[in-house]
Amino acid sequence: PTYIKDAKRQLDRQADFTDFNVFISLPSRDAVQRAARTAEASWDKDKHTDPFGRLVALKDNICTSNFPTTAASGILKNFTSPYEATVVKQLRGAGAIIAGKTNMDEFGMGSHSTNSYFGRVEQLGYEGEQLSAGGSSGGSAMAVAWLQCWAALGTDTGGSVRLPAAYTGVMGFKPSYGLLSRWGVIAYANSLDTVGILGSRAEDVRAIFNTLNVHDPQDPTSLVPSTRARFTSEAHARETIGHSSINLRIGIPMDYNIDTLHPTVRKAWVKSLRLLEMAGCTLHPVSLPATQHALSTYYVLAPAEASSNLAKYDGVRYGSRAQGVDGTPESILFAKTRGQGFGPEVRRRILLGAFSLSAQAIDNYFIQAQKVRRLVQQDFDNVFSRPNPLITASEPSSPGNGVDILLCPTAPTLPPTLSELEDQDPVKAYMNDVFTVPASLAGLPAISVPVSFEVETENEGAIWDKSKFETVGIQLIGQFGDDHLVLRVAELLH
Ligand code: GLN
Repeated sequence: PTYIKDAKRQLDRQADFTDFNVFISLPSRDAVQRAARTAEASWDKDKHTDPFGRLVALKDNICTSNFPTTAASGILKNFTSPYEATVVKQLRGAGAIIAGKTNMDEFGMGSHSTNSYFGRVEQLGYEGEQLSAGGSSGGSAMAVAWLQCWAALGTDTGGSVRLPAAYTGVMGFKPSYGLLSRWGVIAYANSLDTVGILGSRAEDVRAIFNTLNVHDPQDPTSLVPSTRARFTSEAHARETIGHSSINLRIGIPMDYNIDTLHPTVRKAWVKSLRLLEMAGCTLHPVSLPATQHALSTYYVLAPAEASSNLAKYDGVRYGSRAQGVDGTPESILFAKTRGQGFGPEVRRRILLGAFSLSAQAIDNYFIQAQKVRRLVQQDFDNVFSRPNPLITASEPSSPGNGVDILLCPTAPTLPPTLSELEDQDPVKAYMNDVFTVPASLAGLPAISVPVSFEVETENEGAIWDKSKFETVGIQLIGQFGDDHLVLRVAELLH
């Protein structure tokens, strides 16, 4: 079967490209071959469904019992989980082979995969320059882009699957909040965290999504079957409509057309709108006015939740203890362990979060941010043709003239070089998430699709010059539960 050949080629590429620092742990070739042989022995050509026999890489904040799980943090550098995440069990159950654990920003905090205890992820540009792979699931995106696996799982709290997908030219899908299990996935900000899927083709992403899209009683935020039933039958009907693409109404959020949008990104946006128009969709400008506050809202809420989640890494309950602190008072043991174990960005987030939850600041920061989060959600409900299925008895605000899908860029710029990032102000890194956080705050399904087009260069004579092509990540956002529709339109666009 072809998947065995593919897996061998992918293993060779893992060995060839170690310099990019994509993986934190890799399986031994023997272990993969053994798993592949077992898969082969039970292979039934007629019943074959992907991801059977395929190599799937996992972001290193997803627990596995046969590899360490570090979340790219010094504090978990020696941690191996005694159990596996539900999503890992589901993948193995479907016959997938785990292709290793990928590098990331520590605990998912970052946008360039440079905040890792194990060193930054590097992406090679066409002219040999070192580029950002995006973050925080930069290792998973690179593993897919450089063909070191068939597909990969990442996590997306505020854009961490979509942004690296955009920067590396692959598909990166964040499903509706609560569809995929988070049990065994190291928490960053619970109310926003989702498992996401990276792949080269929408079909592959869908195959994994279908494998994982099941209620998990072990995850209290996993949607129960009765809630899922509220939107699955209708979503299915809409998927069929999406297939023929007749009458799909595409919304263009005009608030995303910001001054700092890179001209190439704007070109790709226009190009993808034209593509969908040619496929029979109609285009409709819409306004999402609360978008301008989404980024600051996110950077209050996510650190607040993180500061509470990360309290358990104190060297007693969890985490590797600082040296020479045994026998000292607890406060010193905790402070030294946390001071040494966490990197600078994680420490910054803990301080930010502890501050915005403190008695003197909570009303002005955390509570306000929760209110703005509601406004961001209402913005989306106001423009979609379908009511939000989580809000009972909600009526569509725009009956008849609402839109089915929103289309906008994933990030305002192309990937920056790593040297540009070296002494960058952390707030500048936060700006990269301006287009991805709104869908996270509202829990909506969103995918970044690589859209390529030819650009004019000096080098006219060349027959095939890769540098003549730019690839830009374009984002599709759907109403809650419209995950399959989002995947369908991604297929149209790719
Ligand atoms: N860059 C964002 C942050 O640092 C998003 C991270 C994520 O989605 N995990 O919080």
